[in-house]
Amino acid sequence: AAKHVGGSGYQRYVPGMAGAVAGSAALGAQLRQAIFGGELYLEYQPIVALDADRLAGVEALVRWNHPARGAVAPVEFIPVAERTGLIVPLGEWVLREACRQLASWIVEFGPGAPGVVQVNVSARQLAAANFPDLVAAALADFGLPPHRLTVELTESAAVALGPAVTRLEELRRMGVRVSLDDFGTDRSSLTLLQDLPVDELKLDRSFVQREESGRRGIMPAAVLALARVVGLDIVAEGVEEQDQADRLAALGYRKAQGYHYARPMSPAEVGALIARPATLAGRHH
Ligand code: C2E
Ligand code: MG
Ligand code: MG
Ligand code: MG
Repeated sequence: AAKHVGGSGYQRYVPGMAGAVAGSAALGAQLRQAIFGGELYLEYQPIVALDADRLAGVEALVRWNHPARGAVAPVEFIPVAERTGLIVPLGEWVLREACRQLASWIVEFGPGAPGVVQVNVSARQLAAANFPDLVAAALADFGLPPHRLTVELTESAAVALGPAVTRLEELRRMGVRVSLDDFGTDRSSLTLLQDLPVDELKLDRSFVQREESGRRGIMPAAVLALARVVGLDIVAEGVEEQDQADRLAALGYRKAQGYHYARPMSPAEVGALIARPATLAGRHH
């Protein structure tokens, strides 16, 4: 069973907790129930501005509070959602809930609120011609300025878009930011970066966590240099250790995310962090 945080009934998702779900033949039907029956919720992981006193942003990460099995990890149900097409309604729910939550933080905390909420989207969502309309509606319904929403997609999702990659241009014209997630893990070519309409790269955690000599070890510096030349923002993902944080800061990284700073957390916990930003682990003042 998932651990309860406070008295809210909010369940913390712990990786690997609900492995049994993956084998269930009825998973698709259960997932449909989860989406339309209110069993999904979002956690938010801070993205830390290394040189400032507030959250640069938060990434919304979906969780499933399964009635029998407790918290189920997205690695177990996102692939099923993609196969069954349920990713489209699931993704729309995530988008709207994340916008609603940021708008609520802005009302509560004003300038202390996270600058941006980052939402993961799959290729299948983006491939739908009405995706920009869904985004526009979510922003309008919650009164959120477009620049406070970032859409995260992986390189393989971007490639899968093919000609529909113009969808990203539509989003950017609206003022929504686009971020390339897990950067460096797919077999992409650098020409992709040259042509892809994105605002930000997220350096995959595998490059942050391996301390290696030789060619592999230069990736954080090389990708940072690349981002600067192309004029993109960059976030280092998966920072777990103080020495990783120090290395990245020394290289010139200004934004980072990872368990070293903060784990994915409930909206109430984000609120507590906003009120006391110094409690972000690993912050230097
Ligand atoms: P992602 O978008 O790359 O999200 C980062 C993942 O890394 C999250 O796992 C997060 O909890 C984890 N993480 C953060 N910091 C650290 C760290 O320091 N060390 C390690 N080892 N891991 C860290 P999570 O929440 O299990 O999500 C996994 C993936 O599921 C996400 O990867 C994303 O691709 C997908 N996902 C999550 N929510 C959604 C969603 O709403 N829609 C879609 N389409 N995909 C989602
Ligand atoms: Mg992401
Ligand atoms: Mg990532
Ligand atoms: Mg990932």
